[in-house]
Amino acid sequence: MDAGIRRAREILSEDAAVALTGSGISVESGVPTFRGEEGLWRRFRPEELATPAAFDRDPRLVWEWYAWRRGIVRECRPNAAHRALARWSLDSGGRTVVSQNVDGLHVDAHREFADEEAASGPDRPIELHGSLFRARCTACRARRRSTEPIDASSVETLPRCPECGALERPDVVWFGESLERKALDGAFDAAEGARACLVVGTSARVQPAASVAIVASRSGARLVEVNPESTPLTRIATVSLRRPAGELVPRILPQRRSG
Ligand code: NAD
Ligand code: ZN
Repeated sequence: MDAGIRRAREILSEDAAVALTGSGISVESGVPTFRGEEGLWRRFRPEELATPAAFDRDPRLVWEWYAWRRGIVRECRPNAAHRALARWSLDSGGRTVVSQNVDGLHVDAHREFADEEAASGPDRPIELHGSLFRARCTACRARRRSTEPIDASSVETLPRCPECGALERPDVVWFGESLERKALDGAFDAAEGARACLVVGTSARVQPAASVAIVASRSGARLVEVNPESTPLTRIATVSLRRPAGELVPRILPQRRSG
């Protein structure tokens, strides 16, 4: 294992690098994954609720589910892996964190260190699938940060757009929807330019997210994978480490600054 850790550290010292994360990185923060028992809410599967059709049919029910998920995630804090990734990416302008997670924990971790980095560049990290803590207007598409408790007791009390008064929806990418262009471009630009790619806590079964790692690899990046289980990316990884993210990620990311 130690040889693997040394190898991973050497690879991830590259300045041009991308990290792709999935729900596994937030498990140690207490955020349930979709595939676990905790993923079940009143016997609905996420595939039945996280769709445009479900929202058209019953926006109250869909918002109730999101209110419940927000309530769980609100109690969760970034763990050592989110923090190490934030510092690693803020250490160099060429490192990008791309996440499939909607829990906002990468953004929270970045905020812990961003003060010192006030001058640092573009929107990071990239939340490919949106965020539980953002809402978007169904009419004018205005977006806003939305952290207040949701009253989903009736359609009348659901969140409304401050601009035009129309119903808002969670600003997350639902099954059957396309990803946002800007997020996709940012992720694939980073992948194409990367010399190193770290993949943490994703089963790599959701597209196009998993392709971020594949594109990085095809563009010449060496891949490091952190996941207790093997995935379709394991066979193209240069180093594959089968330990939990919170324990391993801080050990394999070289950090310039202390704290
Ligand atoms: P997934 O559930 O398909 O896979 C999770 C992976 O994490 C598995 O391969 C598992 O072996 C690994 N894992 C479990 N514990 C880990 C740990 N402690 N350290 C490292 N790895 C660990 O998740 P996915 O690939 O992200 O795809 C699921 C989809 O569900 C995504 O589209 C995502 O948007 C959504 N989702 C997000 C959240 C969140 O925001 N936290 C939670 C549930 C689902
Ligand atoms: Zn509006």
